[in-house]
Amino acid sequence: MNLNRRILACILLMGLLAAVLLIGYFQRDSVPAMGKLREEGVKKIALTFDDGPHPYYTEQLLKGLKERNVKATFFITGKNVETYPEIVKMIHEDEHLIGNHTYNHTQLTSRNQESFKQEIIRTNEIIKEVTGEDTIYVRPPYGSWNKEFERELNMFPVLWTIDPLDWCSSNVSCIVSSVCAKVGENDIILMHDQYKSTVTAALKIVDELTEQGYEFVTVDELLFD
Ligand code: ZN
Repeated sequence: MNLNRRILACILLMGLLAAVLLIGYFQRDSVPAMGKLREEGVKKIALTFDDGPHPYYTEQLLKGLKERNVKATFFITGKNVETYPEIVKMIHEDEHLIGNHTYNHTQLTSRNQESFKQEIIRTNEIIKEVTGEDTIYVRPPYGSWNKEFERELNMFPVLWTIDPLDWCSSNVSCIVSSVCAKVGENDIILMHDQYKSTVTAALKIVDELTEQGYEFVTVDELLFD
């Protein structure tokens, strides 16, 4: 074999090797993904409602969710649990997931680490008095969190992936379309059951996305399944 032929053979061999590696790479990625899709069959998604309960709108929302047989997650403040324990009981009896949203809706800063932790602990106690159950999920107001608290408090932080800014718009179709336009499997939608427009929008979102094959679950199902 002369030098030119050897070089050519070498190039061909390397090309073949690259092709085999590439095929292997794509197979590795695509096969489990397809398997997962077949296994689960449905696209899961979670609706979460912060800052409640509200003396009027939370009940309206619960009624609509029950009619649609949909479960959601409510991140409630200790202060509101003390003010509206009956509504918290209704959320619990309807088998929605309840999470901690601090006592006073306090934002964690570098200066209030200890009092912030105390707010979480106090709120856990208040929720347990009403529901009889421990709370292990926390949504830190404004998303400010300290990773060390997870071990110290034995709690999981739950943030969000879609924020339709429902608190600053009363335009229902705007809220609905801002969620439905970007939604995908395993998304966590942030809303606030403090407004009539949010209740109407949330139920429309449920109807529209159920139609598209989504299943609404509580956040624990997205985080651990
Ligand atoms: Zn909040």
